[in-house]
Amino acid sequence: MEKQADINKVVRQHAEMAEFFSGGLTVKTKTSPVNTEPQSEAESRVSASAETIKQLEVIAEQTRQCRKCRLGSIRKNAVPGEGNPSARIMFVGEAPGADEDEQARPFVGRAGQLLDKIIVACGLKRNDVFIANIIKCRPPENRDPLPDEIIACLPYLQQQIELINPEIIVALGAHAAKTLLNTTKPIGQLRGLFHEYVPAIGHKPIKLMPTFHPAYLLRNYSDENRRKVWEDMKKVLAEINLPVPQKSDK
Ligand code: SF4
Repeated sequence: MEKQADINKVVRQHAEMAEFFSGGLTVKTKTSPVNTEPQSEAESRVSASAETIKQLEVIAEQTRQCRKCRLGSIRKNAVPGEGNPSARIMFVGEAPGADEDEQARPFVGRAGQLLDKIIVACGLKRNDVFIANIIKCRPPENRDPLPDEIIACLPYLQQQIELINPEIIVALGAHAAKTLLNTTKPIGQLRGLFHEYVPAIGHKPIKLMPTFHPAYLLRNYSDENRRKVWEDMKKVLAEINLPVPQKSDK
């Protein structure tokens, strides 16, 4: 388990070394701490969109060409992620499944339909948020991603997070939460509380709310679990001053 907790550190070291030696992919964005222009949050989000879209597409194309781990040779399609490049909320799941592999889009199967319902219940649309996964290619038989696969793939997500610079990341399920928080704590202990994800050294931390993965919710579709996810999402909305719908059947 300790091995898993070191994944983020190893990935960061790799990314920093790669950037040091090659100049790397520049992902400094509008709201990066190095940007000292006196723009409002809203202004900076709008003005950065074109460049952010361009760089997100560069990352997406890199994942389509990627063969950094064994999954690259057995996938049908890479699933880089999609959504609003200026999203205030970013959802991060574990890995693509069969439907996602087929369509090259994240969360489009049954779990994705449930995620769509959760987003709508929050008073949002799917294209208000950005949706991605820890790894971009489907593991065979939907097995858990292996540590070396996460180490190989995580830099893509880290770059997406830096570009989009969301106000809150919602980590869907144990794998996403544990990887992004570099912890071995179970999801039951993590969910319902805000944590901090640090995109890079010197970068402002981003609030992270772990909650249950929609696939878990489908397998354990109880009132209690639905209520827990809904409570988590209400906290997310309140944290960024979005209206919190009073009633939901989620
Ligand atoms: S899972 Fe990630 S690292 Fe592995 S081949 Fe796909 S894009 Fe590359």
